[in-house]
Amino acid sequence: MRSSDIIVIGGGVAGLSAAAALSRNAKVTVLEAEEAVGYHSSGRSATMLHYALGDPHVRALTLSSRTFFEDPQPGFTDAPLGHRMPVLVHAREDELGELDALTEAIAPFAALERVGETGIGELCPAIRTGEGGAVAALVDHDGIRLDTHALLQGHVHALRANGGELVLGAPAANLRRDGGHWTLMTARGDAFAAPLIVNAAGAWADTLAMAAGLDPIGLAPLRRTIITFDGPAGVDTAGWPFAKTVGDALYFAPESGRLFASPMDEVPTEPCDAQPDEYEVALAAHRVEERTTMQVGRIHSRWAGLRTFAPDRHLVAGFDPRSEGFFWLAGQGGYGLQTSPIMAKVAESLIAGTPWPIGAVTPDELSPVRFLG
Ligand SMILES: Cc1cc2nc3c(=O)[nH]c(=O)nc-3n(C[C@H](O)[C@H](O)[C@H](O)COP(=O)(O)OP(=O)(O)OC[C@H]3O[C@@H](n4cnc5c(N)ncnc54)[C@H](O)[C@@H]3O)c2cc1C
Repeated sequence: MRSSDIIVIGGGVAGLSAAAALSRNAKVTVLEAEEAVGYHSSGRSATMLHYALGDPHVRALTLSSRTFFEDPQPGFTDAPLGHRMPVLVHAREDELGELDALTEAIAPFAALERVGETGIGELCPAIRTGEGGAVAALVDHDGIRLDTHALLQGHVHALRANGGELVLGAPAANLRRDGGHWTLMTARGDAFAAPLIVNAAGAWADTLAMAAGLDPIGLAPLRRTIITFDGPAGVDTAGWPFAKTVGDALYFAPESGRLFASPMDEVPTEPCDAQPDEYEVALAAHRVEERTTMQVGRIHSRWAGLRTFAPDRHLVAGFDPRSEGFFWLAGQGGYGLQTSPIMAKVAESLIAGTPWPIGAVTPDELSPVRFLG
């Protein structure tokens, strides 16, 4: 039986960032079911930090996380955690009301520029303008394209430097609370014990809770698809923005000499190793051709991942009052990377008693208690 102060279940961005923070003052073990960290949602995202996602609550969490990415603590990483990529949210004539509302909602969080057809063409000439096309856009020149690999490795490094342990290929099962401790067993038969477990199991967070004898809180994993394809011949697309329709129809952005695009699908799915469905792959290509002047020739790669939402689409962090020592860190939805630094501090505050790190959001707003009737 291997004992620690805290077992974190899940080696995605949520579990690893919380584990790194908690390991400053406790012996922390992270159990990850897969043979690599970030295999599921964390390794399949669009890797953006921007404010066109979510609502004021999510934007406040994102704003509080920014500094961590822009100015990482010394020794956290050798590589930058991201680079600036403008975010351009464009609208057709019939979508201008939506663009106005979004501009007003984002304005407290980012300095925005409003551009018309000429400005859209200068930033991203592929966006369809003119008859039936985009007529206006808002631009946040300070969007950040995150480097997930550098981020996850930084947390692993910090965890280990603090004496913490990461165990891969270790799906936690047989969770039992006994004598003030949680005990659990992995598929290989290794046993672990700790007074406290952090449920950072992503799409499986409700499944894990059930394995611990708790009713689920209603998390919904929704599949999203991404394709990559070549940009227009002879055009350098590297400086293009992350371009998104104001409604949730399409986003695309430069990706290693090509472009990636998503039809922003949200398909309810059981927790699984998500695979792209042909329908959403075709939809991605169709929407690119509808909203831009580009033709999608060969699709070079495609993938899908799960964005797991709580019923109110806000993140979940806090102790479960139904069982001692069971802490939720879940419901990161489509913003789990960009909110991970502040959520790690939130977890540290609630578990280790460090000061509450964010004025704009209260512990009650994040607590799982809001789903327990
Ligand atoms: C297509 C797509 C685009 C996205 N774009 C963005 C974006 O631009 N910006 C942004 O901030 N976010 C984005 N997201 C969302 C972001 O990726 C997620 O919110 C985030 O990765 C969730 O992190 P996590 O650690 O909770 O989940 P995961 O990365 O899925 O980690 C959970 C881990 O728990 C492990 N696990 C489960 N059960 C057990 C068990 N019993 N024992 C041990 N381990 C277990 C799993 O194997 C998994 O590795 C996007 C997601 C997708 C799919």
